[in-house]
Amino acid sequence: MAWDFSTDPEFQEQLDWVAQFCKDEIEPLELVFPWAVRLRARDPKMAAIVDPLQQQIKDRGLWAVFLDKELGGPGYGQLKLALLNEILGRYGLAPAMFGCQAPDTGNMEILAAYGTEEQKERWLKPLMNQEIFSAYSMTEPHGGSDPSMFKTVAVKDGSEWVINGEKWFTSAGRAADLLFVMCTNGIFIVPRETPGVEFMEYPSTHNHIRYNEVRVPLDHLLGPEDGARVLAQRRLGGGRIHHAMRAIAQCKRAFDMMCERALSRESHGKLIAEHQMVQQAIADSYAEINMLRLMVLWTAWTIDNSSTQASRTQIAACKYTAAKVLREVAYRAIHIFGSLGATDLTPLQAMWAGSPTMGVMDGVDEVHKVTVARNVLKDYRPHEGLWPTEYYPAKREAAQKKYADLFAKDPDLLKYAQGMQRSGRH
Ligand SMILES: Cc1cc2nc3c(=O)[nH]c(=O)nc-3n(C[C@H](O)[C@H](O)[C@H](O)COP(=O)(O)OP(=O)(O)OC[C@H]3O[C@@H](n4cnc5c(N)ncnc54)[C@H](O)[C@@H]3O)c2cc1C
Repeated sequence: MAWDFSTDPEFQEQLDWVAQFCKDEIEPLELVFPWAVRLRARDPKMAAIVDPLQQQIKDRGLWAVFLDKELGGPGYGQLKLALLNEILGRYGLAPAMFGCQAPDTGNMEILAAYGTEEQKERWLKPLMNQEIFSAYSMTEPHGGSDPSMFKTVAVKDGSEWVINGEKWFTSAGRAADLLFVMCTNGIFIVPRETPGVEFMEYPSTHNHIRYNEVRVPLDHLLGPEDGARVLAQRRLGGGRIHHAMRAIAQCKRAFDMMCERALSRESHGKLIAEHQMVQQAIADSYAEINMLRLMVLWTAWTIDNSSTQASRTQIAACKYTAAKVLREVAYRAIHIFGSLGATDLTPLQAMWAGSPTMGVMDGVDEVHKVTVARNVLKDYRPHEGLWPTEYYPAKREAAQKKYADLFAKDPDLLKYAQGMQRSGRH
């Protein structure tokens, strides 16, 4: 098996271009017009700014990079996507500028994978072109971690499905044109303006929605009837690893800020970078970010060489590790920034606040840890008898049997071995 940590020169060129483009174009745009991409379809002034930039991205073949070739994307695969997301994740607006913003990415992925040709023509194309946006309505108010508790259901009535239920925390639901609604018996595509879709006042961004006798035509079922869990797993598996890729970017950003600041301030007669406890914060952060990064890249590589489903243990581990590393690194950076770190005048507070959010969204950390432990344990067996496999006396006894013939021929050798064992006894 080859281990190769290099990136091919052509793709490295793309990455260098992306890094520069984000710095020169996307960062200023997000500081001045943070909703530019969302508004572009409706506002010609925003379109005039955004469209030429997105055209440059399309011209370089970097549009909607999350989709495989057979699903209509450039087919870079997850490893290259990870390297790209390590840059994009630094800027809030970048994923949308590159046509790979959540929650649309996950919805597009299941639409591309399970949609009929007619559904793709009708919804996938406009979603890919950002003519419309979508949201994903899965979590219910009485509990999100356990899908067996979900109650929202669609009932067939003549030429229509009638949906009844209540959903909670549908991100950007109010601004979406399409709602992908997970029912107990399938995933349904519901245009937001369908009668019976009722938005509660709160929360304002992640919406609480009631579906009251919502009627959609039969062809609004996505994938097979009763296929909700399979589609949801496919959707969320991809989403989780993409979040982890972008979390690396956030961690690196906090780390860069921490290092710059440590070299810029003095206290008690020296640069704060020369105080050992500050050095420890830098050293620990450096190691943790690189551990996370290697785990995410290894997982992306595994997905490319198998499938999302086959990589689910690794994806789950990336998901909670990303939240943890972001929490630790952002906290250390805030601390090294002192009073300035306690304000919202730098990105650090938002990054730190983002870590508990990461620990909850796309499934809480505990549930992912259970997945990891369960799957890992499948490769182990209980030991026989009282002692664990690594119990030295039993192992030594077994090892001595290997040399039984030798000891029989030369009893001095047995005494020699026993002496050695006594002097280095465990
Ligand atoms: C920023 C953000 C965006 C989101 N976007 C969407 C979206 O677009 N669409 C959507 O449908 N949902 C969305 N969600 C909701 C998300 O999927 C749920 O919050 C998540 O699944 C947890 O459900 P819950 O909030 O009901 O928490 P609960 O299920 O009530 O869990 C609360 C706590 O209980 C404990 N717990 C639960 N289960 C276990 C267990 N098995 N073992 C040990 N402890 C456990 C954990 O401490 C957990 O944090 C989003 C969430 C966030 C934070």
